[in-house]
Amino acid sequence: MKQDAEKIVKEIDEKIEGEMESRKAKLTIAVDKKIKDNYKKFCEEPDLKVVIFGTGNYGAMALHALRNMGQKVDYFCDNNKHNWGKHWKDCKIISPDELRKYPDAIVIIASLHFQYMRKQLNEMGISRIYDCDFLIYDLDLTKVEAFAPTGRLSAMRDLYMYSIHAKKNLLKIKTLDVVVTEKCSLRCLNCSNLMQYYKKPKDCSLKLLLDSLDKFMQNIDELYEARILGGEPFIYKELPSVVEKLASYDNCSKIIIFTNGTIVPQEDMIDCLRDKNVIVMISDYGEVSRNKGSLIKLLEDKQIPFVLEKIDTWQDCAKIKYRERSKDELKQIFGNCCVFDVLTLLHGKLYRCPFAAHTENLDAIPTRENIDLMKDVNLRDGIHKISSYKDFIQACNYCNGRDFNVGGVKAAEQLPAGSV
Ligand code: SF4
Ligand code: SF4
Repeated sequence: MKQDAEKIVKEIDEKIEGEMESRKAKLTIAVDKKIKDNYKKFCEEPDLKVVIFGTGNYGAMALHALRNMGQKVDYFCDNNKHNWGKHWKDCKIISPDELRKYPDAIVIIASLHFQYMRKQLNEMGISRIYDCDFLIYDLDLTKVEAFAPTGRLSAMRDLYMYSIHAKKNLLKIKTLDVVVTEKCSLRCLNCSNLMQYYKKPKDCSLKLLLDSLDKFMQNIDELYEARILGGEPFIYKELPSVVEKLASYDNCSKIIIFTNGTIVPQEDMIDCLRDKNVIVMISDYGEVSRNKGSLIKLLEDKQIPFVLEKIDTWQDCAKIKYRERSKDELKQIFGNCCVFDVLTLLHGKLYRCPFAAHTENLDAIPTRENIDLMKDVNLRDGIHKISSYKDFIQACNYCNGRDFNVGGVKAAEQLPAGSV
């Protein structure tokens, strides 16, 4: 084992020497330096339990990497109570309570919720905690059997690497949802962006959208990914101007457009997607995504990168009601939420998450936790505050939560015509 570690450390040393140019290379080097320490320690502890904390796509990547290295994995651990006691990939899934029995275990956090999970493990008295970056950063994802397709896994890994290595003194934002319209070509009963509650859906004013984007981008150091969505973004006639604007920022790395596969855009709209930083994410809801075939053909013809993701179930997270949760329950809901750090821009205001954005915009909850990018002052401080790690936001008390504990619903089930 130790020989393996030394060999890997040597390989890494050689690799570091060769890479100094791009941001990605710098990121890789940061990871490589960390891997040396991590891996050395790892190999010195052969008799202890090895546990992967997280059973999602990152868990699948971490397991694959460890097994490739000939490393045993004893358990998965998960905050999702529905998984406790089950087996996944020949490993038992234990609860955090059961994990307490192994205070000396090596626990590898495989989740974007690493901050929350680290805190959780510390509070449980577990100290041998590792992030999974050193396992997955150069993993061949084509061999990983996970929930998402390879293209999506690759985007997820990039996002993870970005998040985990964000420098604390800089204002780096992982994800910004840019909502361009409340209108959609589908009427999904359980839309997590709450489109089903809009009685008179409207487009966002282009001027307000572009001006507020400017304000946001001028006040942060870097945005990893801007996700353009609606509703359905291809309904929004001004989409090219929004894409062009986002592509003009040097501090925005990626632009992702989420579409439901019902609309094949016109020529001018498709041409705007030919920026090297743009990727189209097509949610495949089966027959409901009625034009996905034509859309895919068009994207292929135009050589625009895209990922097709088959989605059968969603989390049951679209109901708005007051939940009377205690502080501890709110912390848990927030800490496990899959969009707890997805800042959302809607009609010139910035929100901590999509649920907060739409419930406030719909006037469906009494609380207000937004930044008005066109009116508020000290925007950098405000953005820092709204995006920083915290225990929960007030909107969490009206939300079912967005993690796998909330149960699933059929994806894209359509409301009958005429219903609201
Ligand atoms: S396709 Fe469905 S889930 Fe997506 S935005 Fe439209 S209504 Fe919501
Ligand atoms: S309100 Fe809280 S639990 Fe709901 S989506 Fe937002 S951060 Fe997540």
